[in-house]
Amino acid sequence: MNTGEIRNKFLTFFEKKSHVIWPGDSLVPQGDATLLFTGAGMNQFKDMFLGKGRLNIKRATTCQKCLRTGDLENVGRTASHHTFFEMLGNFSFGDYFKRETIAWAWEFLVQELRLPEEKLFVSVYKDDPESYEIWEKHIRILKSKIYSYGENDNFWPANAPAQGPNGPCGPCSEIFYDQGAGVGCGREECEPACDCDRFVEIWNLVFTQFDRKEDGRLEPLPNKNVDTGMGLERMARVMQGVPTNFDIDIFAPVIKSIEDITHLRYHDKKENAVCMRRIADHVKASIFCIADGVLPGNEGRGYVERRLLRRAIRDGAQLGLKECFLYKLVPIISDLMQDYYPDIKQRRENIARIIKSEEEKFLETLELGTVRLKELMDTMQKNKIKELPGKEAFKLYDTYGFPLDMTELILKEHGFSMDSAGVEVELKRQRMQARSSSSMTGQVFDAGFLGKIKEISKGTTFLGYEKDSCRARII
Ligand code: ATP
Ligand code: MG
Ligand code: MG
Ligand code: MG
Repeated sequence: MNTGEIRNKFLTFFEKKSHVIWPGDSLVPQGDATLLFTGAGMNQFKDMFLGKGRLNIKRATTCQKCLRTGDLENVGRTASHHTFFEMLGNFSFGDYFKRETIAWAWEFLVQELRLPEEKLFVSVYKDDPESYEIWEKHIRILKSKIYSYGENDNFWPANAPAQGPNGPCGPCSEIFYDQGAGVGCGREECEPACDCDRFVEIWNLVFTQFDRKEDGRLEPLPNKNVDTGMGLERMARVMQGVPTNFDIDIFAPVIKSIEDITHLRYHDKKENAVCMRRIADHVKASIFCIADGVLPGNEGRGYVERRLLRRAIRDGAQLGLKECFLYKLVPIISDLMQDYYPDIKQRRENIARIIKSEEEKFLETLELGTVRLKELMDTMQKNKIKELPGKEAFKLYDTYGFPLDMTELILKEHGFSMDSAGVEVELKRQRMQARSSSSMTGQVFDAGFLGKIKEISKGTTFLGYEKDSCRARII
């Protein structure tokens, strides 16, 4: 079953259960200044959960484009994480609650998708006996397959500010697919919460019933709500019986294109495979960002996108590429995604142009920066120093445009580390300087921003930067 079929089956299944198929939001959250990117299906419904929403619906189902920068370091290294992914969800705004949610999730997996019951495991929040009982008595799952976990695993979002923001939250119940003892850590006591790849977390059912306040208090919401999120790529991987998300129908052809461009084989070397996965992920994320009006830049969302592109360019360099190549992946990705995202295909030439322009700019500095970092590492080696001083890392960032996380990554690959606290001091100093000069030259900043946009888009018609929320933060 391909991803398109899974997406359709999900949305029509919940439509039959009286849900309205609601359009997913932009990656740039509309009307929520607290968020950089949409990271879950519930983001656009926050007000509905808080009892302040104006939508005249009680049930909705969506397919939501998500971007999670928090998963950046996982991408390529795990079989399950992307920065950009699609989340399928069903939502109840003060309507149905735990019993229906759990029963329908089970019905969808076992009857619609025909997944074998014995492969499915579930978890519940340790202080949520209601969900436990529904799984055990109503669904009749073996007790040995129901795991009770604490806040970190089964309360969503977990405790603020360490893991999640304040706002609507609640206990959750998750569903996992067991790939079998041959996959992952191989320990007999391996369980769904294990970090290894054996259990794929496919679906999170959140029972949104509290509003978490600044002081950590959990205030009951006016209504009990439901917010679920199923990872489309993970579900496709399970349905297609392939080992990683990067082997599914909407990723394998991209990996194949990268093999063709690099003349390397994906399965030949583990490090190469990691680079190829990251390239596929990051360029896809960038394409969707650009389509939603985020251009590579030096601040906020634009900087996140720039980091994604630069990391992918550096991965290409690791694979021996000396010329622009990312933009060549735009046609294949837009073809693979065109059924549900026709706008990506329509805009593919402009998107490719923007990516190519970013590549051209960065390739020039990548070489110089890498040489400089190599020199620094040689000196550190000679002097038996393990940590790169913050000042030097900052200089690479400031002078060569080397994203700090890239410096850290390269250092790590060579057994070194970076003095992050020292970098923070330098960044603070720079921010202070920028602040004092910006109060004097606000006009110049504006012109700089517009000039940059013009340079990047080089006469293209789609710019998409006129959205206020995006522009404000980029400046
Ligand atoms: P994980 O523990 O694997 O990082 P999560 O608990 O952070 O996932 P949730 O916040 O519960 O994820 O999101 C709901 C669902 O979205 C997950 O069950 C998973 O199927 C999917 N998902 C989450 N993060 C990613 C990601 N980075 N890439 C692909 N799918 C994801
Ligand atoms: Mg996660
Ligand atoms: Mg999880
Ligand atoms: Mg989860």
